[in-house]
Amino acid sequence: MSTNTSKISFQNTEIAYAHFSNHGLKKAAGVYQLLGNNFLVNLGTVLTKVALAIHFPIRPFVKPLIFKQFCGGESLKECLPSIHLLEQKRVDVNLNYGVEIKKSERDFDKSFCKNKGALEFAGRKRNVKVVSCKLSGLGNFDLLEKKQNAQSLSSKEEAAFERMRKRMDDLCAIAKEQDVAIYWDAEESWVQTEIDRLVDEFMQKYNTEKAIVFNTFQLYRIDKLQYLKDSIELAKEKNYFLGAKLVRGAYIEKENQWAEEHEEVSVLHSKKKDVDQDYNAALALCLDNIDRVSFCVASHNEESNLWTANEMLNRGIAANHPHVSFSQLYGMGDFISFNLSEAGFNVVKYMPFGPIEEVIPYLIRRAQENSSVDGQTSRELSMLKKEIQRRKL
Ligand SMILES: Cc1cc2nc3c(=O)[nH]c(=O)nc-3n(C[C@H](O)[C@H](O)[C@H](O)COP(=O)(O)OP(=O)(O)OC[C@H]3O[C@@H](n4cnc5c(N)ncnc54)[C@H](O)[C@@H]3O)c2cc1C
Repeated sequence: MSTNTSKISFQNTEIAYAHFSNHGLKKAAGVYQLLGNNFLVNLGTVLTKVALAIHFPIRPFVKPLIFKQFCGGESLKECLPSIHLLEQKRVDVNLNYGVEIKKSERDFDKSFCKNKGALEFAGRKRNVKVVSCKLSGLGNFDLLEKKQNAQSLSSKEEAAFERMRKRMDDLCAIAKEQDVAIYWDAEESWVQTEIDRLVDEFMQKYNTEKAIVFNTFQLYRIDKLQYLKDSIELAKEKNYFLGAKLVRGAYIEKENQWAEEHEEVSVLHSKKKDVDQDYNAALALCLDNIDRVSFCVASHNEESNLWTANEMLNRGIAANHPHVSFSQLYGMGDFISFNLSEAGFNVVKYMPFGPIEEVIPYLIRRAQENSSVDGQTSRELSMLKKEIQRRKL
């Protein structure tokens, strides 16, 4: 991969934080300052879990601070001001009903309705271009695992699996009807092969004119670069468009623990440099096949974002080519998102919404990620501080 990174820069904090009032800017810096403190994050995580267990009201503490930083709102209506603010900055939105693993059919139906509502809402909003879904929110996680292991299911389980498949099929159909992309999140490796199989099925069904259904490729896995190559070949052979969201992967600790418990070799790369190498090779592969692949650079890694943007320009691919988008989480990596959108690239902010109590696992992951990923918090904080200084606050 060439390292021509001279044309685009993420250093302009005036562009990066133009959406923040002075108060908002200082508040965001305060949140990142808190997140940088490992002890406070661990203590906060424990206290939040205890408070939830004993039904102690956490809303007054969580909502103004961490929830507002990382989520659009508790409902779609509450997300509107943030969606409009992003629209003014030519940034699109990827809505995600942030409720995670559920167990009952009632919860699965509720998740289905929320995702359907998000797709219909997106169909009416100019800059809401994507809805992200987790299959484990629409059906029983254990059934996915059993299917993946080719274990036989009882007739009751088969019926439950079929209901999950139907919810997925219906959501993809609504996405196509509304002309909104639907991204299926990648999950743990012990269910991901089954998720891949289902997403492939619906890509073949719905991506005949353009990519509506997207799968997620976790390049921290040893086998996923090859899987991306195979998926591109399959799309060519069966004549459909491949939708590919490229991520490094979110479940390192869980994956390593699972491998240890099952006495299996981990499916993950052991060194970060190998993950980066595969991730960047995946970017190049998607650019090589841009006529057949629509892809999303879902990353806060500055080098990967910068390389893709510059490589597009080097290859004469328009910055706003409809097959390429860049995505960072709402409340994170604004210096990447807003500098890219200012330079004319397609940027989509991943915006979770949902009741506070339900999005707690997502918020805990954000808090822990920001207190543990090397350099991530300090990078965010130093950029926020640079802007505070520039504004002479
Ligand atoms: C818009 C968006 C959507 C996302 N959707 C998903 C999703 O559907 N599924 C999902 O799993 N994740 C998802 N993620 C999270 C993503 O996988 C990463 O965890 C996160 O973005 C950090 O990676 P990075 O590329 O931003 O940056 P970096 O900071 O460069 O990379 C950190 C990542 O590198 C990898 N890594 C670091 N050290 C090691 C090591 N020793 N061994 C193996 N791997 C290592 C890990 O994946 C770690 O998260 C999403 C992220 C974004 C921004």
